[in-house]
Amino acid sequence: MKIDVVQPCGFCAGVRRAIDLVKTALNKYEQIYCFGELIHNEQVTNDLLKEGLFVVKDLSAIKPHPSSAVVIRSHGATPLVYEFLKNNNINIIDATCPIVKRIQMLSSEFSVKGYKVLIFGDKNHEEVKSLIGFSHEKAVVINSIDDVNFDIKSEKTILISQSTKDETKLFQIRDALLKRGLLESNFYNTICSDIKTRQRSLSSLAGRVDLVLILGSKNSANTGNLYAIAREKCVKSFLVSRLIELPGKEIKQAEKIGVATGASTPYNFLISVKREVKNLFKRGD
Ligand code: SF4
Repeated sequence: MKIDVVQPCGFCAGVRRAIDLVKTALNKYEQIYCFGELIHNEQVTNDLLKEGLFVVKDLSAIKPHPSSAVVIRSHGATPLVYEFLKNNNINIIDATCPIVKRIQMLSSEFSVKGYKVLIFGDKNHEEVKSLIGFSHEKAVVINSIDDVNFDIKSEKTILISQSTKDETKLFQIRDALLKRGLLESNFYNTICSDIKTRQRSLSSLAGRVDLVLILGSKNSANTGNLYAIAREKCVKSFLVSRLIELPGKEIKQAEKIGVATGASTPYNFLISVKREVKNLFKRGD
């Protein structure tokens, strides 16, 4: 039995940075608030809760105090959130990934210049909500190629993407929009390079193995995309967020196993999965 792991694996740089910022802040402030989970991973979230991170669902739950602070997650937040925090003198720990910040700037700068901003993304995802906010609520979200049913009459239209979307789907949408009047120079491939590399490596690996394990949380967008990519090439693909979910019977029948991790999946979960897969073979039950 052989296990091949897609690189990069474990946390991406943006997630690692967000966790480091929160851990440092937990030592500095008495109370640290975060809107929703810091990252889409149950194990990491639970560990941070134990260390004192306080997860809230809306701004009204925050009690402004000089010794408390609010974390902006790596997905970013809307300008309205920053405004609220500043107006209420609430300390901000901005863990927005620098890559997401750049996309926010594109959304903001082009909408200020009178461009229509098209975003390939999920309108319910926090990153996309922030991009819409930075476009002054003018951006239009394209969820799939089926949404490309309009012509572009002005040169002043740009296409950007949520940082974790499937690059192949982005290219399909770009091509459909080019036929409908989008200028090539107005296309910005804003999918993050870590995510692109994981997707491309997985796409190549998944066609050469008997079974694929995608490790990560079911509510993680980039993990979900990796799973969809794996399924296209390998019918025996499984999304695993806990060891108990490992498909023991199928694993024992496989000679070559491919493994990929979402950008918010800790490296130690990958190690645990590899150990458990090897144990399954040794036990042979
Ligand atoms: S996936 Fe990319 S854009 Fe998103 S947090 Fe990680 S490094 Fe940043």
